[in-house]
Amino acid sequence: MSGRRKKSRKPRKRRSPGTKVTRLFQRPVQHQEAEPVIRLTHVSVHYNNGTPALEDISFTLQRGERVAVVGPNGAGKSTLFKVIAGILSPTSGRVDVYGHAPHGHICIAYVPQRSQVDWSFPVTVADVVMMGRVGKLGLLRWPRRRDWEIVRESLRLVGMEELASRQIGELSGGQQQRVFIARALAQEAEILLMDEPFAGLDMPSQEVFFRVLDRLREREVTVLISTHDLNQAAGRFDRLILLNRRLIAMGRAKEVLTQEHLLAAYGGRVTMLDTDDGTVMVSDTCCSRGMDHA
Ligand code: ADP
Repeated sequence: MSGRRKKSRKPRKRRSPGTKVTRLFQRPVQHQEAEPVIRLTHVSVHYNNGTPALEDISFTLQRGERVAVVGPNGAGKSTLFKVIAGILSPTSGRVDVYGHAPHGHICIAYVPQRSQVDWSFPVTVADVVMMGRVGKLGLLRWPRRRDWEIVRESLRLVGMEELASRQIGELSGGQQQRVFIARALAQEAEILLMDEPFAGLDMPSQEVFFRVLDRLREREVTVLISTHDLNQAAGRFDRLILLNRRLIAMGRAKEVLTQEHLLAAYGGRVTMLDTDDGTVMVSDTCCSRGMDHA
């Protein structure tokens, strides 16, 4: 008789057909490369209290586009970001990201409005950026040297390497936005959704921000940003989506920002003034909550 004992193997549990499998984290979804990056088909969202936030929205976005979402307060901009990020399900219609429902895509980086983030949470800049790696790591694996290198490189790209060990609450508004972009880079995100990232940022901070966005363009990241600044939307983005619950217009600034469309979107909240330089829109809505620096 040989001294070696055969290892007894535990019999594998057989799952009965139809058993629900709960995973700790979802497997990345395979992209259908021939499909648009984002496609919305007749999407409507009604909140539980009955508020209709989006009605029958359809559009597609292509890889590497930089698109601004504009419209008055309450137009459904945040709701739009949430359905694309897969945080909210549409009441009707469908959202596809590279040909699949948005849930489980680790290629989407969603940055909510700054006011919705708890900045007192005791984490460092590097920790926040490392959170972008969770989808690649899985929840139970520790970051390896390569992951920390990616975090460092992402921070370098947004000019924040020196602040890696700072608490996030100690950063300026512009720096906080750049940390989120670094997190998207570390995540190797292909879609970046940012809800009002310019709110409260001064002009120099906005310039720094756009330089960082140019880096994302080099990587063909598709960027969707909501903003209240129509001038900025017209000058710095490839296309615009003008929203007021319904999609009023989508396309290049010249096609979208017409008097007819603006009145349809902003209604009584704007006055159109005819001047020697053309038509000027004066809005009575204001969005800035004090200025922040880069
Ligand atoms: P925007 O970002 O353009 O200001 P939102 O998407 O935040 O617009 O809101 C669109 C509409 O949906 C508004 O009328 C808002 O009051 C309503 N709304 C937003 N979030 C909720 C919610 N969680 N529950 C109920 N109604 C909501």
